[in-house]
Amino acid sequence: MKLALHWKIIIGMILGIIFGFIMNSVDGGRHFVSDWIAPFGKIFINLLKLIAVPLILASLIKGISDLKDISKIKQMGLRTILIYVGTTVVAIVIGLSIVNTIKPGAGMPQDTIEKIKMKYENDAGVSDKLMKASAQNDAGPLQALVDIFPSNIFTALGEAKMLQVIFFALFVGICLLLISEKKAKPLVDFFDSLNEVVMKMVDLIMLFAPYAVFALMANVIIAFDDTEILLKLLSYALCVVFGLALMIGFYLILVKVYTKKSPLWFLNKLSPAQLLAFSTSSSAATLPVTMERVEEHLGVDKEVAGFVLPVGATVNMDGTSLYQGIAAVFIMQVIWPEGLTFTNQIVIIATALLASIGSAAVPSAGMVMLVIVLESIGFPAELLPIGLALIFAVDRPLDMCRTVVNVTGDATVSMLVAKSLGKLHDNPIPKEWDDNYDAVK
Ligand code: ASP
Repeated sequence: MKLALHWKIIIGMILGIIFGFIMNSVDGGRHFVSDWIAPFGKIFINLLKLIAVPLILASLIKGISDLKDISKIKQMGLRTILIYVGTTVVAIVIGLSIVNTIKPGAGMPQDTIEKIKMKYENDAGVSDKLMKASAQNDAGPLQALVDIFPSNIFTALGEAKMLQVIFFALFVGICLLLISEKKAKPLVDFFDSLNEVVMKMVDLIMLFAPYAVFALMANVIIAFDDTEILLKLLSYALCVVFGLALMIGFYLILVKVYTKKSPLWFLNKLSPAQLLAFSTSSSAATLPVTMERVEEHLGVDKEVAGFVLPVGATVNMDGTSLYQGIAAVFIMQVIWPEGLTFTNQIVIIATALLASIGSAAVPSAGMVMLVIVLESIGFPAELLPIGLALIFAVDRPLDMCRTVVNVTGDATVSMLVAKSLGKLHDNPIPKEWDDNYDAVK
């Protein structure tokens, strides 16, 4: 019997978790995992990152040149950005409503705070986040805009600067529309072929996914050491998870209402990308798989998926912004209750929106931008390390969950935009890795 890919991945994850716990309790087990198991997870992530840039370039250039109509690009761009901003605001409002109702930070015992402070305040992970946040803060207000325009395309490609690559691909795609069809054809054919090749690479890399998630999950488990602190932060963590679950529900309603597709079908088709988002904590690394699922399994046209998904991976992070809202208020409830004013919560909505746009699609980027959210409401600088220390212990599992929401949000929006442009197909035929294998084996 041929097991569906998502089941294989789930089995890999469960075995990885069990293996991680066993290794945690064995002498030298952690070293064994980090030396001999974790590298396979790293190889998998490297492979996904390897193909992300050529995939964006090829599918966007090919897609835009297929649109045959520049006004469609404007429509698509505008709708994408508006829906992205809309869903992000919904996410932050959900987060703030939950944290203000449940108040997970109110009444945390002083000795727990002291314990967490002692353990994490000077932790390298916490100071690393603070350092990165201050580097980000030093840039001028329009720096993010300037950063979209590359001065050297090879640097942009080499450093995988997503927005720069998207800008370049759009620029090339539009110019291909503006020159004669005869002159455009060789380049369009080239990118079409490149797109097919990279999509095939996704199929092949995914054969390795169940083993890779085993390695990734085992590596996550060996990093947990203090379960006592984890339990103390349980109500905060549950608030975040509850908010993220509501967000998934919100997407499913959007899919049902606007595209008339079944929510279960949507989840079933997208699930391999969601599982990878969970295992890698990175929407950028998951991007090639998200694109493959959305185009080949959900039926979104290349030109829409090629634009909406890479842009979404970089700027649309609903899970991250929901988390930032909850984390900021939770920290205030514990160590700065006087800052909990209505105005500050409004400022959090605005800054968490911008912060999620500015967060990189990599593990724990959301925590770096949380510092900027806190600073925007005048959070005392000397309390910042303690604030981050408070949430540090549970950041990784929450990061895994919020990345699932980030990826699901991007896929949902791509469905909505495709539907509104008449570019959502009913019965897509997925390509398999071995479609042409018989002819060449
Ligand atoms: N890990 C998240 C992502 O890649 C970002 C974050 O919230 O830290 O989507």
